[in-house]
Amino acid sequence: ERLVSGEVLGEETALEPSLRPQYLHEYIGQDKIKENLKVFIEAAKLREETLDHVLLYGPPGLGKTTLAVIIANEMGVKLRATSGPALERPGDLAALLTSLEPGDVLFIDEIHRLPRAVEEVLYPAMEDYCLDITIGKGPDARTLRLDLPPFTLVGATTRAGALSAPLRDRFGVISRLEYYHVDQLAQIIERAAAILQIGIEREAALELARRARGTPRIANRLLRRVRDFAQVRGEGGITLPLAVEALERLQVDRLGLDQIDHKLLSAMIEKFAGGPVGLETLAAVIGEEAQTIEEVYEPYLMQIGLLQRTPRGRVVTPAAYTHLGMEVPKR
Ligand code: ATP
Repeated sequence: ERLVSGEVLGEETALEPSLRPQYLHEYIGQDKIKENLKVFIEAAKLREETLDHVLLYGPPGLGKTTLAVIIANEMGVKLRATSGPALERPGDLAALLTSLEPGDVLFIDEIHRLPRAVEEVLYPAMEDYCLDITIGKGPDARTLRLDLPPFTLVGATTRAGALSAPLRDRFGVISRLEYYHVDQLAQIIERAAAILQIGIEREAALELARRARGTPRIANRLLRRVRDFAQVRGEGGITLPLAVEALERLQVDRLGLDQIDHKLLSAMIEKFAGGPVGLETLAAVIGEEAQTIEEVYEPYLMQIGLLQRTPRGRVVTPAAYTHLGMEVPKR
């Protein structure tokens, strides 16, 4: 398991709730989304209506689940959470929908992984708050229409492009979450440190933030690991030198790259003269799956300008040579 992965790792879920912001004013960053949601929530409350369905998309760990929790809290309703892969049959979704109370928020994570047949149950539910049930088979089959309580669907996905058009079109609000700036991540770290009751210097919070790959979940994870380090050392708080030492031990470099990132970049430089190299070739050389490289490793390397995708394949940039302490070749 990668320390710098945006995904939830093994023991984390139990710890998360205490650090999770519960209301909009506690949620740091993503200002455009926050402002919009604030208006939509206030308007829905004034009209005493349910909030329109909301689709949130963006890389893992940026706070989609947190926003769903916040929407429910701000609306003063309950949240029911599930995920695309967990809803295997239409009946699974029907059972969930019929158990909702008026106004509730239904959160479906990884909504792009809903089976087709389940997705079709969702269309009339989202549009008209009803459920079409087929009873019987063959010529005797009849469809029954069942009314549902009004509800708000909050869907989350890392791959908006993988959503079918009919599903996407049924969301009134579609928001893309962006990677966080360093100063926002530092604020998130300082807030988490206060909740975890550990002191942290501003400079140390900034250092952790720079290595957190724009992702709050990674920021909080690095904070916990560095806190362990401080406590074992018997130090009261997290100072800059302590943070730097701990991060070096954890093998998370100045830009938040770990061993896997280094392996990928070095392979491209040493075996392919920096590229262009095809995805499949690269995958074979470093022993990873092409899809993992494309969806997990590359986005951040591209985001910080160390790697580019070109029509002829992947290439590393001069910045990658510099970051690895290598001389930039003259072309
Ligand atoms: P996934 O897509 O993998 O489910 P996610 O994008 O839904 O991830 P969350 O679980 O909502 O991510 O966020 C991860 C953790 O990061 C939260 O538990 C919370 O502690 C912290 N966090 C996320 N966004 C913010 C924020 N804007 N302000 C403060 N803390 C945040």
